Order: sequence, then structure tokens, then C-alpha cells
Amino acid sequence: MSVRGRYAPSPTGRLHLGNVRTALLAWLQVRARAGTFVLRIEDVDRGRSRAHFEQTLIDDLRWLGLEWDEGPERGGAHGPYRQSECSARYEAALAKLHTFACTCTRKEVRAAAASGSGVEPVYPGTCWRGPTHPERPSAVRWRPPEGVVSVSDARMGMLQEDLRAEAGSFLLRRRDGDWAYNLAVVVDDGFMEISHVLRGEDLWTSTPRHVALATALGLPVPQYTHVPLLRGPDGEKLSKRHGAPDVAALREAGEEPGRVVAWLARSVGLVSDSVRTVTAQALVGDFEVAAIVDRPRTGMVDPWRL
Ligand code: GLU
Repeated sequence: MSVRGRYAPSPTGRLHLGNVRTALLAWLQVRARAGTFVLRIEDVDRGRSRAHFEQTLIDDLRWLGLEWDEGPERGGAHGPYRQSECSARYEAALAKLHTFACTCTRKEVRAAAASGSGVEPVYPGTCWRGPTHPERPSAVRWRPPEGVVSVSDARMGMLQEDLRAEAGSFLLRRRDGDWAYNLAVVVDDGFMEISHVLRGEDLWTSTPRHVALATALGLPVPQYTHVPLLRGPDGEKLSKRHGAPDVAALREAGEEPGRVVAWLARSVGLVSDSVRTVTAQALVGDFEVAAIVDRPRTGMVDPWRL
């Protein structure tokens, strides 16, 4: 079976070096196996997505030499490649699942949840027998089946989760009508026949939910690789707060793409510290995800001085 991988950014801001490092690794994984690379724009969050951010990220990826085979501006047999245009797919998926309408606000869920330990509280079941506030707009939730879901990952090993107990009934569509990322990502990876998902480690803990949904929808489960996030000196995910330049800023400042790619490659141990410029293409060779090293922050250099 041929390899199909993707990069699936949300156009809610400018790409930073951490984003494009994940894009580079996803691209390398596909190119090293002569596969098909898909760019999918994850603009389900209508309130935060902007067309100009989509254009900027397209320009950034091209500038870095990370061209895609299917996606915006290229088309392909698995389109549309913009989630805001894929509602019919998500509607069809919802129709296959036993879901329930939920009229609880976030605050109500948090207040009624048994434990407040996790980032997201476990849904207490308020609307299982019907919406408690029929006058309100309703969200759609899905109660995952009983049992433990096992997920394996090329770098993270194995994760087992009792979804009912640990994640509870989770959102597939929000009260404002927006589709939830967790549904859209599963439906699209299935529809686009994605065989390999490489993405940031922050999504690893959502993966059991994705596997349960894919299974319930009769979709194959892709091979997962979750890669380290680029972190600032304080250990937090690199962001504007750290003063790190975004990719467009480097591009606009006249930086050389080869130097940016070399910096990204050095930061995960793909090339030695003496390599100051390299093309993405030159890294393809026999790239293996096993070669990715999460380098200690002390080994990082200031992105303004590539
Ligand atoms: N759209 C998600 C993000 O920008 C990534 C989704 C994925 O790779 O599964 O964080």
C-alpha cells in the first residue's frame, strides 16, 4: 500500500518554527517512502480562522520547499482540502454514530463534573436522557463504547485509555454549530486515505478518542508518530511570548530558507551542528522517524541567529 501522509495546520495565526518543524518531519516521512503528501487546512474553528493566515502558511511551506501533492491550489482526488468546505462529510459521519444532543454550557459541565483533575472535565451525563434545556441551541456529543482503547505510536510506544471513564462523552459538534476538531480530523484522515499521521506530541493524548471514532466509523486506523514540540527556554511550547520570530517574519526579513531548514533539522538531530544550510530535499535520503532526537533546550540556538 502506498504511503499517504499529511500536514494539517489550523489557519489561526502565523506558523512558527515549531509548526514548520512538524511539517518538515511529516513531509520527510512521506517523501522518504515516495508517498503522497497532502496539505489540509483545518479551519473548523470559524471564529479564529482567517483566509490571510492560510495564504501565509501556504507561502511559508513553499518557501521551505515543502510542496504537497494534494491540497489547496493543487486539488486532488480527495478534496475539498479545506475543512470549512467539508460539512457534508461530517454530517454523514454523525449520522453513523449514536450521538446525543447536549445543551450544557462549558461552565455547567465543569461545575457538575465529578473530578476537576484533567484539563477537560469528564462529562457528567446531564443530557444523556434528553437535552435538559431544550430552548437552547444544542451541541452533539458522543459516548464512546465501553472498554479500553489501545493506541500505538512509532515514538511514544503504547497508550491505553478507558475512554468512558477518562474522556467521557466528548463533543463532535459545538453549540455554535462548528465541528469539533476530534471529529473532523478522523473523518478527513479516513476520507483522504491517510496511512501515516505525524503530528505534535500535544495531540498524543487525544489519539485514543481518534482511534475509537475511526473504529466506530469503520475507518482504518493510521500509523501514528507524535514528534516533540519545539520549546522555549522555560520548557513551554515555543510561541510568540518567547520572542521567537514566526516563519513569515524570517521570510520577510530576507532569511535564506536553507538556513531555516538547517536550524530545524539540527534541533531534532537530523544533521550535525556544523550544517548551516540544507534543502528539505537533501534530507529525504533514508529519513526514519527513529532518527528524531528531542534535543535538550540548552542545545538550541536563538532563532533570530540561525
Ligand atoms: N490542526 C491541528 C493543529 O494545527 C493539527 C491536527 C493534526 O495534525 O491532527 O494543531
